[in-house]
Amino acid sequence: MQNKPTVILVVGHNPKAKGASNSETIPRVNEYDYNKEIAEMIGPDISEQTPNIDVQIISGDMSNTRKHNMINDIAKTKNVVLVVDMHLNAGSPTAEYHLIKYARNSVRGEIAAKKFSHGFSTASYFGTSAPGLSTIPAHWPGMKFAGCFPTDRRPPLNQRGEQYAKDQWKYNGSEVLFNTNPPAVITEPFFISNTRFMTKMLWQENKEIFSKIMADAIIAYCFEIECISW
Ligand SMILES: [Zn+2]
Repeated sequence: MQNKPTVILVVGHNPKAKGASNSETIPRVNEYDYNKEIAEMIGPDISEQTPNIDVQIISGDMSNTRKHNMINDIAKTKNVVLVVDMHLNAGSPTAEYHLIKYARNSVRGEIAAKKFSHGFSTASYFGTSAPGLSTIPAHWPGMKFAGCFPTDRRPPLNQRGEQYAKDQWKYNGSEVLFNTNPPAVITEPFFISNTRFMTKMLWQENKEIFSKIMADAIIAYCFEIECISW
């Protein structure tokens, strides 16, 4: 299948600058290591359900420029239908919502963002058998500020409760999104800085649910854009 759809998972940040971290969780956690582990679970989750989607992971010691150049090179020979730049939000110690960013002019980016957003907002089965769950919300990050934000329009608030400067919102941390030729999204499913929430996301059961949500959203997206024929 030469035109087999390929989904590229980009692990945000790199081993030298791992992005946001939380030193209150045990073990201490950072964006790069956490998302790398989840990214490596998503491919098997997808292939359990369909052999028709290839998943490729981009991680390691490289700049955002090298990442988007690499993606554009891959897209010259493969049918890259989606790029997922995986991050975690940071700043608030209590926030429980997700953000999915996409470029406003990307129809497919918007479709993908809505699939992820749907998955993150409907995960009511989240972590039900692990200990200590009575203190945990029964749903994935709520919809208060959640959802999909086209990246040329400011969201009402950023994660620190400040208004985004227009150009910061557009470019700061969005290099991969803005410089890839294939459709792309940035996923920020929850806040690494929310210790209570992050603690439960370190449980293996919840990592598996998280990767499954990602896998299901990717499969749903591929169906919707009709890149898979069964
Ligand atoms: Zn990040």
